[in-house]
Amino acid sequence: MTRRYDIAVIGCGIMGATAALRAAQNGMRVVVIERDAAGSGASGVNAGTLSLQIKRVSLMPYALRGHAWWRAAGDAVGFRETGSCTLAFDAREQALLEERMALKREAGAPIEFLTPRELHAREPAITDRVVAASWCAVDGHADSSRTGVYLRALLREAGVETREHAGATGIASIDGGDGGFRIDLPGGELRARRVLLACGAWTADVAARLGVTLPIRVRVNTVSVTEPGPRRLSAGVGHATGLLTLKQKSSGAWLIGGGWQGRGSPQEGRGEVVAETLLGNWRLARFAVPSLAHVRVIRCWTGFEAWVDDHLPLAGPLPGVPDAWVLACVRGGYTIGPCIGPLVADAMLGRAGDLPLFDPARVLASSAPATAHA
Ligand SMILES: Cc1cc2nc3c(=O)[nH]c(=O)nc-3n(C[C@H](O)[C@H](O)[C@H](O)COP(=O)(O)OP(=O)(O)OC[C@H]3O[C@@H](n4cnc5c(N)ncnc54)[C@H](O)[C@@H]3O)c2cc1C
Repeated sequence: MTRRYDIAVIGCGIMGATAALRAAQNGMRVVVIERDAAGSGASGVNAGTLSLQIKRVSLMPYALRGHAWWRAAGDAVGFRETGSCTLAFDAREQALLEERMALKREAGAPIEFLTPRELHAREPAITDRVVAASWCAVDGHADSSRTGVYLRALLREAGVETREHAGATGIASIDGGDGGFRIDLPGGELRARRVLLACGAWTADVAARLGVTLPIRVRVNTVSVTEPGPRRLSAGVGHATGLLTLKQKSSGAWLIGGGWQGRGSPQEGRGEVVAETLLGNWRLARFAVPSLAHVRVIRCWTGFEAWVDDHLPLAGPLPGVPDAWVLACVRGGYTIGPCIGPLVADAMLGRAGDLPLFDPARVLASSAPATAHA
């Protein structure tokens, strides 16, 4: 028998799961369809940095609310509010840092500036080559590898049906009757009145099945982790250019990221680490914290992050397809997801949110996309 739902969410990353939770709390019958395991995409392989300092100014209200959600999640996701500093090593970087951080502070992030001496007193392991630094006491991190387990438990508790290892192989609008969508899964089909595409780097592939071409691009971000070492750093460390995120976990292992690019595509597998960019990331980390020279990297990996040219989210109705919605391309989305997911769910139910969404129609070259029908 074909199962029917009020809302089908495709993709069980942070976006899809938090949207599904809100819809279920509003009394909807919700199913989340996940091709792999919950949290197996970007939401489960990212660097786990929950930093307001590296968020875009226009997204700060969303980041503040998302950050509060992670704080409330606490130990279940390894949340730690360590504070973090962003470093400048020359006058050009200092100007960049001061300009960007002043704007972020105006947007609501509790960011202050530290002199090199104050920085050194706080974190002696950081190089003395710093000329300026900013500090945000509420910045921190979570353990992204725990995201899937955490989301699965929340969804179960909220009564959301979760179909894992069941990728949506087909999706089509249904003509006539109550309308809605038919979604094909490996073991059969299901029907839903409304659908949310929250498939991260794969969102364009699924939208294409509904006849909409979304100009989504993909970054192949690299993260690496070292063997555990003696405790040297309490806070997170970033760089004025945004090319570094560095933290020492409670295990003593160091986690290094910053958006250095590997290669590959979401259609071809997991992506590959590129040695030159890994080394570039590593050199910058070692420059920031010289004692890292004595620590060995034991694992590195890549993950796919979706984005569009204006670097703003796609969060709203899928153009030209009534009752289909999209939520993707949120830069810093691990932090922001728990804010924007519920906002999109509310909008799908006709409820006005207190923060604006980001209309996906703005990125379409043609205003009249074709619609596929069953
Ligand atoms: C390596 C890396 C490091 C990052 N570091 C940070 C960071 O430190 N801090 C931060 O805030 N942000 C970070 N980000 C960004 C952040 O991880 C993402 O913005 C966020 O996780 C995106 O969530 P999502 O739910 O949109 O996508 P995803 O988590 O990728 O979820 C999409 C899901 O859809 C599923 N799916 C795809 N196609 C189908 C289909 N046909 N049927 C069913 N399911 C399907 C996928 O399997 C996947 O599980 C990083 C990103 C990467 C890649």
